[in-house]
Amino acid sequence: MPDKQGQKPSAIVVGGGPAGLTAAIALAGAGLTTVLVGKRPAKADNRTTALLAGSVTALKTLGVWELCAAQAAPLKLMRIVDDTRRLWRAPEVKFEADEIDLDAFGYNIENRRLVAALEQRARALPSLRMIEDEFSSVVPDDAAVTVTLRSGGTLQTHLVIAADGRRSLCRAAAGIAIDERDYRQVALTVCVKHSRSHRDTSTEFHTPNGPFTLVPLPGNRSSLVWVLGAADADAIAALDDAELSAEIERASHSILGKIEVEAGRGMFPLSVATVRRFAGKRIALVGEAAHVIPPIGAQGLNLGLRDAATIGELAIAAQRDGRDIGSADVLSHYDKMRRTDVGSRTLAIDLLNRTLLTDFLPVQGMRGLGLYMIDRIGPLRRAVMREGVSPAAAQPLLMRGEVL
Ligand SMILES: Cc1cc2nc3c(=O)[nH]c(=O)nc-3n(C[C@H](O)[C@H](O)[C@H](O)COP(=O)(O)OP(=O)(O)OC[C@H]3O[C@@H](n4cnc5c(N)ncnc54)[C@H](O)[C@@H]3O)c2cc1C
Repeated sequence: MPDKQGQKPSAIVVGGGPAGLTAAIALAGAGLTTVLVGKRPAKADNRTTALLAGSVTALKTLGVWELCAAQAAPLKLMRIVDDTRRLWRAPEVKFEADEIDLDAFGYNIENRRLVAALEQRARALPSLRMIEDEFSSVVPDDAAVTVTLRSGGTLQTHLVIAADGRRSLCRAAAGIAIDERDYRQVALTVCVKHSRSHRDTSTEFHTPNGPFTLVPLPGNRSSLVWVLGAADADAIAALDDAELSAEIERASHSILGKIEVEAGRGMFPLSVATVRRFAGKRIALVGEAAHVIPPIGAQGLNLGLRDAATIGELAIAAQRDGRDIGSADVLSHYDKMRRTDVGSRTLAIDLLNRTLLTDFLPVQGMRGLGLYMIDRIGPLRRAVMREGVSPAAAQPLLMRGEVL
């Protein structure tokens, strides 16, 4: 039986970003008494997220999608254009959603709109208590975890779902090590208006510094993620709006016509990081607390949502069977279920990024050959698309549209 409000909650989710909110909604939506401890970051997030089909299905199932669908744009065609001007360049590769019988690979939405829809849904759930605060410590022991709030006061629970981002304190509390490598690249993010239609197409130009990716938003708007070396990023970020608009138009070969940047720019230093274990000591890591990958192929938060759906599924099943939802059994099952999905995607994205940056000709050649084969061999291309949208190794129930 779920605990009653005011008593020890079944679970505490820490971190009110998209991964944490999704986990909290999944648990509370199934009736588990849940507390979400989260404080909005001081700086507004101007990024967008390309939510792939499985993530959209999960958000529909959780009652979130209807609150933000109108603010999302479909991704029907994805193009990768080799813009390296190297000797061995890859052909342009096009992925079309209808080739794998989908209307769209997914939908792109501004993070602030996604988070607003998640918060609206979370506030409507009677089993979910939201505490707008930071936590200062998380201390696990054999029987429970104690979470201390910055403003004073403590809470105890059987399971902490740690969605406290890449510098996770919970990860340290669980004694989980993380392997991290800095890329010395920075992603500049900005939303733009343009004079030509994007035709529901995202275009990823692969440059020798990293990808330059335009992803559709509703109307004649797109989001840009421009990956640069640190010095170039500083120089570009120092441009005024008119200069930056002109620079983006040039770098995009004017495919979207005249560009006008909107207010708000973000700069994100890029790295790749994966934990050695996904859970321990009654603490399960989700989202960037568990893995960080560069923004190539729209995978980061899609992985984070699959983490949230998976731990939700396992915890709810344990509670229904009268088992301890934070037990070593539940956590080791979670660890096993997330390894292949996160590991394989991290490896693939890391390889793609590193082969782009290398000056080593044979590696450039291999990369070109790989993309050439994907372009020319239909079954291979379709397999890559299917795997990108819904991985064979990880299809939590929510991603299949099943209510928890
Ligand atoms: C440029 C760029 C583009 C991207 N594009 C895509 C894309 O198209 N598709 C995709 O799938 N992914 C994308 N990603 C990845 C995606 O943005 C991240 O995976 C996602 O934002 C991580 O969400 P999260 O909830 O795990 O962490 P966060 O959003 O970092 O949330 C962590 C939360 O924890 C809170 N917190 C931390 N410490 C405490 C504390 N002590 N007490 C209380 N709260 C705390 C923070 O305030 C924050 O609200 C992109 C990433 C970048 C850098």
